[in-house]
Amino acid sequence: MALDRVWRPYTQMQTAPAPLRAVRTEGSRIWLDDGRCLIDGIASWWTACHGYNHPAIRAAVEAQLERMPHIMLGGFVHEPVQELAERLATILPGDLDHSFFSESGSVAVEVAMKMARQYWINRGERGRHRFLCFRHAYHGDTFAAMSVCDPEEGMHALFAGALEKQVMAEVPEDEAGFVALEALIARERGGLAGLIIEPLVQCAGGFRMHSPEVLGRIVEIARAAGLLVIFDEIATGFGRTGTLFACEQARVVPDIVTLSKALTGGTLPLAATVARRHVFEAFLADRDDAALMHGPTYSGNPLACAAANASLELFRTEPRLAQVASIEASLRAGLESCRGRRAVADVRVKGAIGVVELSGSVDLDRMRQAFVDAGVWIRPFGRAVYLMPALNIPADDLATLIAAIVAVVGRC
Ligand code: PMP
Repeated sequence: MALDRVWRPYTQMQTAPAPLRAVRTEGSRIWLDDGRCLIDGIASWWTACHGYNHPAIRAAVEAQLERMPHIMLGGFVHEPVQELAERLATILPGDLDHSFFSESGSVAVEVAMKMARQYWINRGERGRHRFLCFRHAYHGDTFAAMSVCDPEEGMHALFAGALEKQVMAEVPEDEAGFVALEALIARERGGLAGLIIEPLVQCAGGFRMHSPEVLGRIVEIARAAGLLVIFDEIATGFGRTGTLFACEQARVVPDIVTLSKALTGGTLPLAATVARRHVFEAFLADRDDAALMHGPTYSGNPLACAAANASLELFRTEPRLAQVASIEASLRAGLESCRGRRAVADVRVKGAIGVVELSGSVDLDRMRQAFVDAGVWIRPFGRAVYLMPALNIPADDLATLIAAIVAVVGRC
């Protein structure tokens, strides 16, 4: 009964099976209170990129805890936040140099949308407040973020009438698709502030993938029409697709990028909305109302920034991108045997993301239980059974995860 005091995320509290009780984590392992140990295939919603409890991140957070767990960012600045902004400016391409910090991906998206709208207002162009967004997109659960998600993906369908109307496009799959996108943008451009897209992999909307070339052409079309380009790299950032950021593969420098999830290596909540110089400069004026009036209470929390700095240092000192390449090879080889099975519609891999898409609807609770019974933590949703493990997962643990998918999907 006491458990019901915790209103759990994405959960029908009346019918959902009881949650597992986690008591300890280490590397790619989760221990339960009954002594069982699960190999983790999804790194706590794709955050724990270095595995759990990495000693370097723990030490950085402990040291910061001693000095100063928190200080408001209104009127103050501090070393961890300055270092993090500097590090992000260094590792992001081009002049993506100005970071605004919040605590969750959805809020980072809200801030990006607010920034893009106000960019036009500050430049004297009123009426440019809508966004071009894409079918199968997912950008978060708050209201502005929901408005740029695919309304038919189910998650936010209930609110369809209450959400701001945006301009929904298909990700082009052929020449006709690009022509259609161009026509749509030409029709709507006067009211559009920008475009928002998850580069290369649309994750929570069903793990659909597009090539760097397709992404590059989408951006070209948007830029030709004068739109700001927002990349939501909350899921794809920090090595997940094979490069530190997905935008690198398309050689695109978006005007605004959103980051969260693996930013702190899965330890503390933190998000960043990072803007190019020209966006930042559009807010500089001798009038207060040109400023970005946004300020989350815990903006730039020192503990979270210390964790992020330590996490980014690990990308420099440990071979994460080589590990992603090796995970990608294992996923391709291992999941391929699911293709052609009766219950399987498609198998897709990109970097450290492996997806088996099922052809029909599945009993998610039963399938999730089957994975737990097999000693792994794999949590399918929709029709996607997927892996997004720690980027440094040991090879034998990854093999166990892949074998579990092959076995469980084989029984569907
Ligand atoms: N954007 C993307 C691409 C995401 O994958 C997510 C989370 N799954 C979000 C935004 C929202 O992030 P949060 O859950 O931290 O609000």
